[in-house]
Amino acid sequence: MSRSSKNAKTFFGTLVLVALVAVSAALGLRVSSTLPTVREEMARTPSPTPVYGSVMAVTPDPSQPTLPPTLRSGATGDAVKNLQSRLKNLGYYTAEIDGQFGSGTLQAVMLFQTQNGIQADGIVGPETSELLFSTAARPMTVTATPMPTAAPTPRPEARKPYEREDGLPLVVNKSQPLPDGYQPWDLVTMNSYCDSSVVKIKYRDTKAEREAVDALMTMLRAAVADGITNWQISAAYRTVKYQKQLFDNQVNTYINKNGLSRSKAIEATRKTVADPGTSEHHLGTCFDITVPGVSFKGTKQHHWLEEHCWDYGFILRYTEEKKNITGFLAEAWHYRYVGLEHAKTMQREDLCLEEYVQRYGVEFE
Ligand SMILES: [Zn+2]
Repeated sequence: MSRSSKNAKTFFGTLVLVALVAVSAALGLRVSSTLPTVREEMARTPSPTPVYGSVMAVTPDPSQPTLPPTLRSGATGDAVKNLQSRLKNLGYYTAEIDGQFGSGTLQAVMLFQTQNGIQADGIVGPETSELLFSTAARPMTVTATPMPTAAPTPRPEARKPYEREDGLPLVVNKSQPLPDGYQPWDLVTMNSYCDSSVVKIKYRDTKAEREAVDALMTMLRAAVADGITNWQISAAYRTVKYQKQLFDNQVNTYINKNGLSRSKAIEATRKTVADPGTSEHHLGTCFDITVPGVSFKGTKQHHWLEEHCWDYGFILRYTEEKKNITGFLAEAWHYRYVGLEHAKTMQREDLCLEEYVQRYGVEFE
């Protein structure tokens, strides 16, 4: 079963073909075997000298190729204009060529990287710019060949615990608790891992899955490039034990301060605090994103995330509209990382995670 689930995972991105996953799983077809070939071919294709900003004025020394400057969110100037017009020619960038590396440019770079099999970090370093300005650069395709969005970490088991066997995001909710024996994959301590000039981590020992934290930082850097700052993370990974503490504390508050009976207090607590084992925070791929000292709902940070989170692989998990399906009241601050392709599809088709998995999931024994 692990061979077919790996195929299904790599193959998933092209959603229109999702039905074939079941077929290929059943037949054990190596549907993803063409992907490494594409990368090898690109590596073998000789690339002409990059045409890139001020580098053009320098006479190139053939034995010592001059690398263009690394460009990232917040950069400005002619090099950014060249980058934008190249991305525009290839179909990745549609906005104005203004020389400002903001969220639109970042999205275009990440899309280019994803479709060209480079780690989608949104940074235009030597690898990205060399390919981008070469004849081997693939133009934008609407239904992209699925490519990995991040460099794979070598692990004995390819499937991450927060993914289902078919590669879809694992659902954890009131009726589908965390699987027994769940173990996190690759937790990092956010305080030391994250750039403190971009985001404040409210509690010192907050941890989360590395893949999700990397995507979070890319997203928040784009927000900062758009002038939206002052970010805080109030919660990320939680153990079942910690969730039990949170739950019990709230029950006791209702009993001691509001005079409720224990059963009424539990009932009231369940409206806002998940039972231990049923919180998505156990996965380490969710963040409560806030602004220090203010109520998050209605802030400009809230509005920016609501609009842009999808472009960085995040979903706004609990909305008023879907509360009867998710079982949670709307939470403006709770975002879950699911990866770019899943997030974009959920946004486009207006599906919450439960609906998405219902529609596109493959049943495994
Ligand atoms: Zn949350």
